[in-house]
Amino acid sequence: MIENHAKVNGNYKLAYIFENGAFRFGENERLLDKSFFGAGFYTRYKNVIRNLRFCDCFEDQNFKTVEQFAQMGLPLSMNNWLCLRGALNKAKKNYKKPDPVLENKCESLLNFLLKIKRGSKKIREVLTADAINQSKPVDLLIVESFARITNTTVPDDTVLKTVLGLWNKVYFTNDFREFLFKQRNNTLGIGARVAHFDENVDDRCTFCRILYPAVQTREEFLHLFRTCPITLGLLRNTVRLWRLPITVPGPDPDPVFENLYWYGIENEENKMELSIYFDLFRYVLWKFKTRRVLPRIADFTSIYTSLLDTILAIKPKIRAKIFNNRLIANVLQALG
Ligand SMILES: [Zn+2]
Repeated sequence: MIENHAKVNGNYKLAYIFENGAFRFGENERLLDKSFFGAGFYTRYKNVIRNLRFCDCFEDQNFKTVEQFAQMGLPLSMNNWLCLRGALNKAKKNYKKPDPVLENKCESLLNFLLKIKRGSKKIREVLTADAINQSKPVDLLIVESFARITNTTVPDDTVLKTVLGLWNKVYFTNDFREFLFKQRNNTLGIGARVAHFDENVDDRCTFCRILYPAVQTREEFLHLFRTCPITLGLLRNTVRLWRLPITVPGPDPDPVFENLYWYGIENEENKMELSIYFDLFRYVLWKFKTRRVLPRIADFTSIYTSLLDTILAIKPKIRAKIFNNRLIANVLQALG
């Protein structure tokens, strides 16, 4: 699938080149894999290597020099540089579309994957298995960085499998799936993160700013989704309104609650319905943030319950799971 993505329209420019069948070098058509870079070099620079897209290797139309790669944090040997250049120039020759309309049509791998809808279960299964096999180290980096920004510890493999796979569920809307993906990959447009590379962006919390214009609190991931007074208030008020037996602690880290809130863990076990419950909470919060509207409890809960209702209508199995989970079962009474 990753290879197919690269070959459609001008997608090759946005394609990741590592272990991608669309990019090969030499007479034996070898992949740009770990052995290409060398195990030691790979281990050291795997973050850069795994995130390297075709377009990152060019400056205007020219293949970057050894010095330019080194400045990007990838000090390639001359031999590897030559092979990489060979592989990418070959790909360019093969995949460049004569029609400029097609050539300029580029879609990220994520969007490409999001388009694969219901009805193609087989393809998605293969794709998921493929993604899991191919991207273990990337997954690890993702979960480590997620644990860092949420001030939690990385949970075990079985938990991660559910949590990382959730974005790919076809019974969610594409918008919700995109949110889940970006949330786990830390690529949401959070104020403090965006301000880091765009100085015109205000790095202060969207909600706090509406209430107290003079506030200086930065919009960090953890602030927006967990410790912001607005967020905490909503967490507490929804739990109270729906009479859920969940204790919402203050802004200080509380290991039991953090595991529940960020990973859907109850009694050391991941419960998918709990993940969905809290992911949906953060998603609705995110909708208010992007619209720069203060989330009032009534508006918040009406959006929340209607989204949950839609999910349950498409996937009744989740209704049963929620019904059987004492922590959140009561939320069903709030649905239409
Ligand atoms: Zn805030």
